[in-house]
Amino acid sequence: MSIAENIARVRANIAAAAREAGRRPEEITLVGASKMNGAAACREAIAAGIDALGENRVQEMTAKLQENAYSGAPLHFIGHLQRNKVKQVAGKVSLIQSVGSPELLEEIEKAAARLETVQDILLEVNIGEEEAKSGFAPAELLPGAEAALEKEHVRVLGLMTIPPADADREENLRYFDKVRALFLDMNEKLFHNSLQVLSMGMSGDYEDAVRAGATMVRVGTAIFGSRHYT
Ligand SMILES: *Cc1c(COP(=O)(O)O)cnc(C)c1O
Repeated sequence: MSIAENIARVRANIAAAAREAGRRPEEITLVGASKMNGAAACREAIAAGIDALGENRVQEMTAKLQENAYSGAPLHFIGHLQRNKVKQVAGKVSLIQSVGSPELLEEIEKAAARLETVQDILLEVNIGEEEAKSGFAPAELLPGAEAALEKEHVRVLGLMTIPPADADREENLRYFDKVRALFLDMNEKLFHNSLQVLSMGMSGDYEDAVRAGATMVRVGTAIFGSRHYT
């Protein structure tokens, strides 16, 4: 299957899941998670109409930017971001999806201020409260959002989450429901219901995520094929 055929199939699945939930397919943004795929694969996805591409390693993204891998589509940063690498990401991507601590938020604010720009971000929720994973714990989310609201060079568009990898389907659905509840609560309390983006769902669970209210899914393997780690 080609990348274009894979994108068409994923889109059809998203549309079916959206309709089941009484939603419109156009409400859902499809982000291609293009890590470990070269510039040619990125261009193929863009030509096939992917809504955005997401990278999760700074070094790889920087190299592919130099090859013009992303021209024609918005670029998102979706991976764990170290504070000392913020300068290589802020201002270079349209959305940083993975902002999971007050310290990272502050670093992005500083970098965006220096560039005299406003960086769009999502707050990442560590919904499984996993030790090894970054992201705001549910109880830290509202204080984190309040801190973000005080920053002039950062704009919060919504939430992103990655549930624990070992969750079974039922548990995974409960995590999606919990994140959606946090999203609705935060949106009403702090953002006058203006937030639009709820980023959840990957190759194995994007249809469940759409049924649970995701407005953005990040799909890698189902579009680009399996990754070969060396
Ligand atoms: C790789 C990645 C994805 C996509 O994973 P697949 O299972 O290959 O679809 C989504 N989100 C993040 C943050 C990723 O790093």
